[in-house]
Amino acid sequence: MNLIIFGPPGAGKGTQADFIVNKYNLHQLSTGQVLRNEIKNQTELGQEISSIINSGNLVSDNVVKKLVESFISDNKYKDRLIFDGYPRNLVQAKTLTELLQKYNQKIDLVLKLSVSLETIKKRISERRTLEKRADDSEEIAIKRYNTYEKSSEPVIEYYKKLNLLKVIDGERSIDQINNEISDIIGLI
Ligand code: AMP
Repeated sequence: MNLIIFGPPGAGKGTQADFIVNKYNLHQLSTGQVLRNEIKNQTELGQEISSIINSGNLVSDNVVKKLVESFISDNKYKDRLIFDGYPRNLVQAKTLTELLQKYNQKIDLVLKLSVSLETIKKRISERRTLEKRADDSEEIAIKRYNTYEKSSEPVIEYYKKLNLLKVIDGERSIDQINNEISDIIGLI
Protein backbone atom coordinates (compact mmCIF):
# COMPACT_ATOMS: atom_id res chain seq x y z
CA MET A 1 0.00 0.00 0.00
CA ASN A 2 1.24 3.48 -0.94
CA LEU A 3 -0.54 6.49 0.43
CA ILE A 4 -0.44 10.25 0.46
CA ILE A 5 -1.04 12.37 3.51
CA PHE A 6 -2.15 15.77 2.38
CA GLY A 7 -2.92 19.04 4.13
CA PRO A 8 -1.56 22.50 4.97
CA PRO A 9 1.70 22.97 6.88
CA GLY A 10 0.97 22.40 10.56
CA ALA A 11 -2.08 20.20 9.89
CA GLY A 12 -0.52 17.26 11.75
CA LYS A 13 0.64 15.29 8.71
CA GLY A 14 3.90 14.30 10.39
CA THR A 15 2.17 13.11 13.57
CA GLN A 16 -0.37 11.05 11.65
CA ALA A 17 2.26 9.69 9.27
CA ASP A 18 4.28 8.48 12.31
CA PHE A 19 1.24 6.61 13.57
CA ILE A 20 0.55 4.96 10.18
CA VAL A 21 4.22 4.06 9.72
CA ASN A 22 4.27 2.18 13.01
CA LYS A 23 0.93 0.49 12.66
CA TYR A 24 1.30 -0.67 9.04
CA ASN A 25 5.09 -0.93 8.73
CA LEU A 26 5.32 1.68 6.01
CA HIS A 27 8.04 4.23 5.29
CA GLN A 28 7.38 7.96 5.59
CA LEU A 29 8.80 10.04 2.78
CA SER A 30 8.63 13.64 3.93
CA THR A 31 10.14 15.68 1.11
CA GLY A 32 10.47 18.67 3.47
CA GLN A 33 12.44 16.53 5.94
CA VAL A 34 14.71 15.11 3.24
CA LEU A 35 15.36 18.64 1.94
CA ARG A 36 16.09 19.95 5.44
CA ASN A 37 18.60 17.12 5.90
CA GLU A 38 20.35 18.21 2.72
CA ILE A 39 20.70 21.69 4.22
CA LYS A 40 21.86 20.34 7.57
CA ASN A 41 24.49 18.17 5.89
CA GLN A 42 25.58 21.12 3.75
CA THR A 43 25.42 19.14 0.52
CA GLU A 44 25.60 20.92 -2.82
CA LEU A 45 21.83 20.60 -3.17
CA GLY A 46 21.37 21.83 0.41
CA GLN A 47 23.32 24.99 -0.32
CA GLU A 48 21.24 25.63 -3.46
CA ILE A 49 17.88 25.28 -1.75
CA SER A 50 18.38 26.71 1.74
CA SER A 51 17.29 30.26 0.90
CA ILE A 52 14.25 28.96 -1.02
CA ILE A 53 13.08 26.83 1.89
CA ASN A 54 13.81 29.42 4.55
CA SER A 55 11.74 32.01 2.70
CA GLY A 56 8.75 29.65 2.46
CA ASN A 57 8.89 29.12 -1.31
CA LEU A 58 8.72 25.80 -3.10
CA VAL A 59 11.78 24.00 -4.43
CA SER A 60 11.63 23.22 -8.17
CA ASP A 61 9.46 20.30 -9.29
CA ASN A 62 12.47 18.68 -10.95
CA VAL A 63 14.64 18.65 -7.84
CA VAL A 64 11.83 17.05 -5.84
CA LYS A 65 11.08 14.57 -8.64
CA LYS A 66 14.65 13.19 -8.56
CA LEU A 67 14.52 12.86 -4.83
CA VAL A 68 11.15 11.08 -4.86
CA GLU A 69 12.25 8.74 -7.66
CA SER A 70 15.24 7.63 -5.60
CA PHE A 71 12.80 6.28 -3.00
CA ILE A 72 10.21 4.83 -5.38
CA SER A 73 12.89 2.96 -7.34
CA ASP A 74 14.33 1.43 -4.17
CA ASN A 75 12.96 -2.08 -3.66
CA LYS A 76 13.00 -1.85 0.11
CA TYR A 77 10.27 0.81 -0.07
CA LYS A 78 8.20 -0.94 -2.75
CA ASP A 79 4.47 -0.52 -2.03
CA ARG A 80 5.14 0.87 1.43
CA LEU A 81 5.53 4.62 1.06
CA ILE A 82 3.61 7.41 2.74
CA PHE A 83 4.14 10.60 0.82
CA ASP A 84 4.12 13.56 3.20
CA GLY A 85 4.47 17.02 1.63
CA TYR A 86 4.40 15.60 -1.89
CA PRO A 87 2.72 16.15 -4.34
CA ARG A 88 2.16 19.85 -3.72
CA ASN A 89 0.80 20.90 -7.10
CA LEU A 90 -0.83 19.28 -10.13
CA VAL A 91 2.43 18.82 -12.04
CA GLN A 92 3.86 16.89 -9.09
CA ALA A 93 0.69 14.80 -8.78
CA LYS A 94 0.89 13.75 -12.43
CA THR A 95 4.61 13.13 -12.12
CA LEU A 96 3.98 10.90 -9.13
CA THR A 97 1.47 8.80 -11.09
CA GLU A 98 4.03 8.37 -13.88
CA LEU A 99 6.86 7.51 -11.51
CA LEU A 100 4.79 4.92 -9.70
CA GLN A 101 3.68 3.37 -13.00
CA LYS A 102 7.31 3.16 -14.10
CA TYR A 103 8.03 0.98 -11.05
CA ASN A 104 4.74 -0.99 -11.21
CA GLN A 105 3.13 0.74 -8.28
CA LYS A 106 0.18 3.02 -7.56
CA ILE A 107 -1.39 5.21 -4.91
CA ASP A 108 -4.04 3.37 -2.89
CA LEU A 109 -5.33 6.21 -0.75
CA VAL A 110 -5.05 9.98 -0.28
CA LEU A 111 -5.84 11.26 3.21
CA LYS A 112 -6.52 14.97 3.37
CA LEU A 113 -6.36 16.61 6.80
CA SER A 114 -8.63 19.65 6.91
CA VAL A 115 -7.59 22.36 9.37
CA SER A 116 -8.38 26.09 9.71
CA LEU A 117 -5.74 28.82 9.46
CA GLU A 118 -6.34 29.72 13.14
CA THR A 119 -5.45 26.19 14.26
CA ILE A 120 -2.43 26.14 11.96
CA LYS A 121 -1.07 29.36 13.49
CA LYS A 122 -1.49 27.91 16.98
CA ARG A 123 0.18 24.59 16.11
CA ILE A 124 3.05 26.18 14.25
CA SER A 125 3.74 28.50 17.15
CA GLU A 126 3.91 25.44 19.46
CA ARG A 127 6.17 23.63 16.98
CA ARG A 128 8.42 26.70 16.77
CA THR A 129 9.35 26.28 20.43
CA LEU A 130 9.95 22.53 20.04
CA GLU A 131 11.67 22.14 16.66
CA LYS A 132 13.19 25.56 15.92
CA ARG A 133 12.58 25.30 12.17
CA ALA A 134 13.82 28.31 10.21
CA ASP A 135 10.60 28.43 8.18
CA ASP A 136 8.20 28.38 11.15
CA SER A 137 7.99 32.12 11.90
CA GLU A 138 4.37 33.33 11.83
CA GLU A 139 4.95 35.38 8.68
CA ILE A 140 6.54 32.50 6.74
CA ALA A 141 3.97 30.05 8.11
CA ILE A 142 1.15 32.18 6.68
CA LYS A 143 2.99 32.40 3.38
CA ARG A 144 3.35 28.60 3.29
CA TYR A 145 -0.34 28.24 4.10
CA ASN A 146 -1.27 30.63 1.26
CA THR A 147 0.96 28.73 -1.17
CA TYR A 148 -0.77 25.52 -0.11
CA GLU A 149 -4.23 27.06 -0.59
CA LYS A 150 -3.33 28.21 -4.10
CA SER A 151 -1.80 25.00 -5.41
CA SER A 152 -3.73 22.34 -3.49
CA GLU A 153 -7.18 22.61 -5.09
CA PRO A 154 -6.19 21.03 -8.45
CA VAL A 155 -4.38 18.25 -6.58
CA ILE A 156 -7.46 17.54 -4.47
CA GLU A 157 -9.67 17.51 -7.60
CA TYR A 158 -7.21 15.18 -9.33
CA TYR A 159 -7.42 12.57 -6.57
CA LYS A 160 -11.16 13.05 -6.09
CA LYS A 161 -11.69 12.11 -9.74
CA LEU A 162 -9.54 9.03 -9.26
CA ASN A 163 -11.75 8.11 -6.28
CA LEU A 164 -8.80 8.01 -3.93
CA LEU A 165 -9.53 10.99 -1.68
CA LYS A 166 -10.70 10.79 1.93
CA VAL A 167 -11.15 14.06 3.83
CA ILE A 168 -10.48 13.96 7.56
CA ASP A 169 -11.40 16.59 10.12
CA GLY A 170 -7.95 17.50 11.45
CA GLU A 171 -9.28 19.73 14.24
CA ARG A 172 -9.97 16.76 16.53
CA SER A 173 -7.67 15.00 18.99
CA ILE A 174 -4.74 12.94 17.72
CA ASP A 175 -6.39 9.73 18.99
CA GLN A 176 -9.68 10.43 17.26
CA ILE A 177 -7.87 11.09 13.99
CA ASN A 178 -5.74 7.92 14.43
CA ASN A 179 -8.93 5.89 14.85
CA GLU A 180 -10.60 7.32 11.79
CA ILE A 181 -7.49 6.68 9.69
CA SER A 182 -7.32 3.06 10.90
CA ASP A 183 -10.97 2.57 9.95
CA ILE A 184 -10.38 3.97 6.47
CA ILE A 185 -7.24 1.91 5.88
CA GLY A 186 -9.09 -1.17 7.11
CA LEU A 187 -11.53 -0.77 4.23
CA ILE A 188 -9.02 -0.75 1.39
P1 AMP B 1 7.28 20.72 4.74
O1 AMP B 1 8.19 20.08 5.74
O2 AMP B 1 6.48 19.73 3.95
O3 AMP B 1 6.43 21.80 5.33
O4 AMP B 1 8.24 21.41 3.65
C1 AMP B 1 9.13 22.44 4.03
C2 AMP B 1 9.62 23.16 2.78
O5 AMP B 1 10.34 22.24 1.94
C3 AMP B 1 8.54 23.74 1.87
O6 AMP B 1 8.09 25.02 2.31
C4 AMP B 1 9.28 23.81 0.54
O7 AMP B 1 10.19 24.88 0.51
C5 AMP B 1 10.09 22.52 0.55
N1 AMP B 1 9.32 21.39 -0.01
C6 AMP B 1 8.89 20.28 0.65
N2 AMP B 1 8.20 19.46 -0.16
C7 AMP B 1 8.18 20.07 -1.37
C8 AMP B 1 7.58 19.75 -2.62
N3 AMP B 1 6.85 18.64 -2.78
N4 AMP B 1 7.78 20.62 -3.66
C9 AMP B 1 8.49 21.72 -3.51
N5 AMP B 1 9.05 22.12 -2.35
C10 AMP B 1 8.90 21.30 -1.28
